[in-house]
Amino acid sequence: MRKPIIVGNWKMNKTVAEAKEFIKAVDPLCHDGATYGVGTSFLALAESVKAAKNLIIAAENCHFEDQGAFTGEVSVPMLEEIGVKYCIIGHSERRQMFQETDETVSKKAKRLLQANMTPIVCIGESEAQYDAGQSEQVIRDQLTGSLAGLQAEDMKNVVIAYEPIWAIGTGKSASKEIAQNCCHIVRDQIEKMFGKEAADIVRIQYGGSVKPDNIVEYMAEPDIDGALIGGASLKVDSFSEIIAKTK
Ligand code: 13P
Repeated sequence: MRKPIIVGNWKMNKTVAEAKEFIKAVDPLCHDGATYGVGTSFLALAESVKAAKNLIIAAENCHFEDQGAFTGEVSVPMLEEIGVKYCIIGHSERRQMFQETDETVSKKAKRLLQANMTPIVCIGESEAQYDAGQSEQVIRDQLTGSLAGLQAEDMKNVVIAYEPIWAIGTGKSASKEIAQNCCHIVRDQIEKMFGKEAADIVRIQYGGSVKPDNIVEYMAEPDIDGALIGGASLKVDSFSEIIAKTK
């Protein structure tokens, strides 16, 4: 049985004080129906880890090197030291705006797994690729590159977030059929790369305009084990509603 995992990706939102206030309100609402968490800015991580008893706290990026001349970057040992256990990598915003590639994503995934941390590996096609009927190929190629060098047994500690770029922050969510179909392709590709057992155990999230009024239908799909949520994770009310609806 795969335990569902629902994570808010706050992106570049919330000061430390705002993060603590949110966690204070939402943390007690978590229940065993799923693992719940939030991805915060680097600055808010340490205080968020201290404030959270139930929510998992995720970084939104890391560097694959442990230290060195990489101005502005944060390494895995730095995250480890403050008790961070999850890290979002390869988000489409980082791929589009900060030159993240499948190759850097796979290096980051490897380093995180070495530290017993869970990478949340994001993939997903652009609107042009979707319109051209290339979604399946893009998903398979991104997984091949982003998970290169990982082993079958790593898949129990890896979360894949399928996020079609055309559905991110647009209010235009993928239908449950499209989301299920693409998450099924993800699982099939994991099976091709790492075998059936790894495919059965890996957790796959859908992301892209997930809200309180569509979370239940996504979670009912057989290959969707959770969600990565942007906008609707920023407000206590909407994230609490999502928690309540996924009991
Ligand atoms: P929205 O939920 O705002 O569409 O963002 C999705 C996302 O990018 C989560 O990583």
